[in-house]
Amino acid sequence: MNVVLLPGDGVGPEVMAEARKALDALELGIAWTDVPWGSAWWAEHGTMMPADAIDVLRGHDAILMGAVGDPAVPDDEALWGLILKIRQELDLWVNVRPARLLEGIPGPLAGRAPHDVDMVFVRENSEGEYAGVGGRVHRGFGHDVAIESSVFTRRGCERVIRYAFGMASARKGVLVNATKSNASRFGFPFWDEIVAEVGAEFPGVVVDRMLVDALSARLIRDPGSVDVVVASNLFGDILTDIAAALQGGMGMAASANLSPGGGVPALFEPVHGSAPDIAGRGIANPVGAIWSAALMLEQLGAGEGSRRLMDALETVCRRGPRTRDVGGTATTAEVGDAVVAALAAQP
Ligand code: ATP
Ligand code: MG
Repeated sequence: MNVVLLPGDGVGPEVMAEARKALDALELGIAWTDVPWGSAWWAEHGTMMPADAIDVLRGHDAILMGAVGDPAVPDDEALWGLILKIRQELDLWVNVRPARLLEGIPGPLAGRAPHDVDMVFVRENSEGEYAGVGGRVHRGFGHDVAIESSVFTRRGCERVIRYAFGMASARKGVLVNATKSNASRFGFPFWDEIVAEVGAEFPGVVVDRMLVDALSARLIRDPGSVDVVVASNLFGDILTDIAAALQGGMGMAASANLSPGGGVPALFEPVHGSAPDIAGRGIANPVGAIWSAALMLEQLGAGEGSRRLMDALETVCRRGPRTRDVGGTATTAEVGDAVVAALAAQP
């Protein structure tokens, strides 16, 4: 397995060091390629990554990324110069985010059992509201106008919706379809049409149609009633931050950016950003990063290694040590070391 490690900025390198430590402890023969792209690269070269970056990535089996972003770098550079560029060039069209409240981790909803939060979000990752289509017009005439258009293509919707149906059918047979079809006149009604069409291929899956605002409330009130959710790019972005909070915070959440059947490396990353407020202190929670590494192993066909890693991670969350964002006092490295120890203690 040839894996690109892109630690990035802020707490990215801190949490990625622990993910790498855990993967190396599994002794699966991973060959690492370290790339120093991100804000430091930008400060030196004026771009977030070199011109041949996409070719470098294509030559590997997977990409494990920390976080990219720095207060000194404009968002537009960080996003369109690296994250969105990689997603678009490699056509990583689906973002999969499991959200599970692990035993031992304090969730924000008092009195809820861990099994109440166990969901998977399937987010469209290539178009929709983040297509980057629009512009600023009439500037300087006292009529400043900004236009930001959503793009919903049949191909783009169909593939992510079909993927979500597959996920729902492998789990509980219920797919929550999150849209805003009453207020949106074109995009979401079209999306709903495709959900109905693709749904005909999955007679065993029940579609639960929800408006995104009502779903947001339901995620807080009754998270146990939600299993698999399919959503557009923007709605998926927002819903998965709610889900990250439900599973104990940003440091806990993992994600996979995939192009199923596309023959390109998939990208795995914790959901959190570079967290400049806590960077450099060794206190970032590495669980989301290590969980992302487990998702990577699963996708690379190393199912046994993935299960072992998740098992070790869950053992550590249950018994501690834990970082302070989830109620503990441990450092990032102490949590990573505990995961390695839990791996070694496995039968
Ligand atoms: P970016 O612009 O890179 O996304 P951000 O500050 O907007 O950065 P995050 O980096 O996700 O967003 O941080 C949001 C909050 O969550 C911050 O208070 C941060 O300290 C906290 N946080 C993020 N990641 C972790 C982590 N791994 N462990 C502990 N706290 C974290
Ligand atoms: Mg952020």
